[in-house]
Amino acid sequence: MEKRVRVRFAPSPTGGLHMGGVRTALFNYLFAKRHGGDFILRIEDTDQTRFVEGAEQYIIDALKWCGISPNEGVGFGDGPHKPYRQSERKASGIYKKYADKLIASGHAYYAFDTSEELDEMRKRLEAAKVVAPQYNAITRQNMRNSITLSAEEVQKLLAEGKPYVVRLNVPRNEEIRFNDIIRGWVVVNSAQVDDKVLLKSDGMPTYHLAHIVDDIEMQISHAVRGEEWLPSAPGHILIYRYLGLENDMPKLAHLPLILNPDGNGKISKRESRFPVFPLSWKDPREATPFIGYKESGYFPEAFVNVLALLGWNPGTNEEIFSLEEIAKVFDLERVHKSGAKFDPEKAKWFNQQYLRKHSDKELAALFKPTLIEKGYGNLSEQFIEDYCRLVKEKAQFVHEFWQYGSFILEEPTSYDEKVMAKKWNADVKALFVKLVDKFTALQKWDAHELHECFAAATTELGKLDMQVMRVLVTGVAGGPQLFDVMALIGKEKTLERFKTAFSKN
Ligand code: GLU
Repeated sequence: MEKRVRVRFAPSPTGGLHMGGVRTALFNYLFAKRHGGDFILRIEDTDQTRFVEGAEQYIIDALKWCGISPNEGVGFGDGPHKPYRQSERKASGIYKKYADKLIASGHAYYAFDTSEELDEMRKRLEAAKVVAPQYNAITRQNMRNSITLSAEEVQKLLAEGKPYVVRLNVPRNEEIRFNDIIRGWVVVNSAQVDDKVLLKSDGMPTYHLAHIVDDIEMQISHAVRGEEWLPSAPGHILIYRYLGLENDMPKLAHLPLILNPDGNGKISKRESRFPVFPLSWKDPREATPFIGYKESGYFPEAFVNVLALLGWNPGTNEEIFSLEEIAKVFDLERVHKSGAKFDPEKAKWFNQQYLRKHSDKELAALFKPTLIEKGYGNLSEQFIEDYCRLVKEKAQFVHEFWQYGSFILEEPTSYDEKVMAKKWNADVKALFVKLVDKFTALQKWDAHELHECFAAATTELGKLDMQVMRVLVTGVAGGPQLFDVMALIGKEKTLERFKTAFSKN
């Protein structure tokens, strides 16, 4: 029988969750949804030297903003496998139990080497031109561990409470094969695999042991994670094998890297061309905060849509998807092996598509804070909605509504020099003065009436340049439909602006 789909996102709280991490969470979430399974958030905090204050809360907040909600896990409610933080899970002795089992069967051993001794080993190997020095079947022979020491000596050291780690006993030359959903068959010789530390001297399990124990205990069906874990996977296979759990282990899927726009490496958190974090992240170890997608004006729906298409596609040309829509068609088989290049311009385009999906009323609510900040707190809801309707076509972000339409609220202080130099003179001015007389006589002030009046005046008086009129009213040479703009500015204020323009030009 196929196992129930249960996947997990298992970040370590070592910093803010960047967009690569969010994409991993997203693919897990989508896969669980697609198969009606469970999605778990597990916090892998066994490396206490790398613990960063605030990181766990950040991860939770970021997932919430993105709408990627686990149905079990830290910050999202307990399920049958609580607790979901490894540091808390350790209390039950669960990791040690598995390590002991490996020791008892000879597949793991105690190593008593001090850090000086390990250092010395590394130097020795480097001097002998060994490319990647590691603790393995050969080098362990010269070290102090329960393979080289006598049983009595080992007992003595343990009884004395000498610090030790537990290492995996990796065979010297054995083929390790495993199937990755995304990469297919992977074959590695065990000579490439080091004798991984499973339990550290502080009694904490390493990631390697802890995630295996938890994946088994939490009945995880698929481990979907970043490509950076692929090199560790052969060692993990051995651990499952030696625990007699190879048939129960999750299926593996290693997601491709997200590459920077130049395609020459993975995205760095110091990238300056676009945000890397979903929400602004202040690392307590650094002076300057990293600005997030949220704070840069992205809609979460746009952000996750962009992420979903990094390494996956639906097999059609469709690009705009809600999470629900993607979840209906998502599968790991369609995830590519090769790195996915991130295109920040395309991300802005996505935001624009989502912006256009919002009603004017919704946009007005989002834009209102900017208006208040600019000193326009007393505008009517209707006015703000009309404003948004006029400027939204061009904008990719709501905050751009100000730059694209501030002339609706603020009288011009200057007039586009190029247009004026080319098209303005005394004759043109005389024509416009007559046009404005006609505007003044209008009973009704809306875009339609203004248009009619302008057309009639053109027939009667001769050609009137629309762009010149735009500059007279707004100061700038481009913008939304001018008659709409004039209608929104209102009769009194528009006429006032013409008057000022005539006096200044
Ligand atoms: N704790 C690991 C990380 O931070 C999890 C890797 C995995 O999903 O197995 O990425």
